[in-house]
Amino acid sequence: MSTELHDSASARAELDAIADNLRACMQCGTCSASCPNVHFMDFTPRRMWRLMTLGRYDEVLNSKTFWSCSACYTCTLRCPRGLPLTEAVYALKRYAAGNKGKHSAFYRAFLDNVQRNGRVQESTLMARYLAEMRSPSKALGFVPVGLKLLRAGKLHPPGSEYKGVLKPMFDAERNMEDRS
Ligand code: SF4
Ligand code: SF4
Repeated sequence: MSTELHDSASARAELDAIADNLRACMQCGTCSASCPNVHFMDFTPRRMWRLMTLGRYDEVLNSKTFWSCSACYTCTLRCPRGLPLTEAVYALKRYAAGNKGKHSAFYRAFLDNVQRNGRVQESTLMARYLAEMRSPSKALGFVPVGLKLLRAGKLHPPGSEYKGVLKPMFDAERNMEDRS
């Protein structure tokens, strides 16, 4: 991701607001030690909060750390400072998705797919993701795993069975965000 994603005053202000909520972090590391997904992250949650408070947003936004969060809330519950850590991760995901940040293509494709189909439809999900990535070599890299899934009966054909059933939930969530 280039720095231009947070070069504007409003973008900077949005990220500063997220960082402000983390200023009381005392770097005890409880969040990192408690996080079940830390092994999938580029760096630990503790380091992510520190980078945020130092204004080193590029390093955070270029990482997979916040994308690897499964919102289990363990860090939030255990933080001795009572910081809204999971909320900070949500805010980072929203920011990166809205600004087409690095690693956000899959997130956007996934949400769009679930919203449209009422469930994950694997082939259209990957088609949308790969179209957004514009990388033929990446597409070819997925062929072996695609064939394996097909043979195992794990690829569901496109269907309309659940189409739109989750739309009210997405609409309600958007309304809540608009009000907050
Ligand atoms: S648990 Fe809280 S205070 Fe400790 S490192 Fe994590 S965010 Fe900071
Ligand atoms: S909410 Fe996210 S960052 Fe916090 S412990 Fe759970 S997976 Fe880790």
